[in-house]
Amino acid sequence: MISVHGLTKVFPGGVRALDSLDLDIGEGEFFALLGPSGCGKTTLLRSIAGLETPTSGRIGIGGTDVTTLAPGRRDVAMVFQDYALFPHMDVAANIAYPLRIRKTPRARREARAAEVADRLSLTGLLGRRPGQLSGGQQQRVALARAVACRPRVFLFDEPLSNLDARLRLEARTFLKRLQDELGVTTVFVTHDQGEALALAHRIAVMDAGRIVQVGTPAEIFHRPATTFVASFIGSTPMNLLPGRAGDGVLHVAGAALPAPGDLPEGEPIVYGVRPEYTDLSATRRDDGFPGEVAVLENLGATTLVTLEGPDHLVQAVVGEGREPAVGTAAWAVPRRGRALVYRDG
Ligand code: ADP
Ligand code: MG
Repeated sequence: MISVHGLTKVFPGGVRALDSLDLDIGEGEFFALLGPSGCGKTTLLRSIAGLETPTSGRIGIGGTDVTTLAPGRRDVAMVFQDYALFPHMDVAANIAYPLRIRKTPRARREARAAEVADRLSLTGLLGRRPGQLSGGQQQRVALARAVACRPRVFLFDEPLSNLDARLRLEARTFLKRLQDELGVTTVFVTHDQGEALALAHRIAVMDAGRIVQVGTPAEIFHRPATTFVASFIGSTPMNLLPGRAGDGVLHVAGAALPAPGDLPEGEPIVYGVRPEYTDLSATRRDDGFPGEVAVLENLGATTLVTLEGPDHLVQAVVGEGREPAVGTAAWAVPRRGRALVYRDG
């Protein structure tokens, strides 16, 4: 549905915001663009919308090359981080605005605005102005305006980031359900890995104007392709420990661990294992990272334990009632089959 090929954007002044980027998004997909601030997410979204002119490369939507097509002729609707509602118009007029631009007759416009407002639980608010609405309500009006003209593609630029934590979770569920129902191809930009994992069918992780990995949430979570992706994904950061292959095992932070078959002797590696897949032992284990229990952090139903070794820190998540005492010795043991070995460190 959306195809991006060799897309490069160099801003005046020389910032290379997009660097020969390729991307294909399927019909009906909920697709997340995830990456740290400044990696080029907004520039990519604005390029798809036609609000940014690429330096080189092509963009296709629904099989048509739209690279030089004006924004209004691309049949996409964009929702901005700050919603960009018109402050002097009431909710009904805001929702109907894109239809007015398309010269839809007034009666049809009003009927459609009412229908969309009903679907987004805004019916009681149609006469209000944006200034008289809560953040969550404004967000729904922005969504309603995007939905109103039945676009082929939704483009969302961090639409939940101005909501407080609780409301953000509600709005997230709401958005997921809306996309499921409407089935409209959606590109959703976020720097929040939890949001991307929760919402998307597939995620593209971006770094410095490039895409470093595309995959389902499960693939990105369980098999991050690089240490960059590994450190970016997960509610607690992955343990990433430098080590070396030797004598058929991996020597990592005081532990001897099973080595993958294809590693040359002496090869430097980075060993990755999530704290959720790291167990604690109170007795010595050759396949465990030794350390002293330094910090306990309550995560609610579980506790994040930080072990301090001679020259490493490693974290493990333990269940209720299994917290070790601070200051005691412990060994952090990676669970079999859950560890990843990187050579890009
Ligand atoms: P993100 O949305 O991932 O935070 P952006 O796409 O906004 O990243 O920005 C990518 C890079 O391009 C950043 O280095 C940013 O400073 C730069 N940039 C964005 N817009 C402009 C602009 N209009 N002029 C110059 N540089 C820009
Ligand atoms: Mg941005």
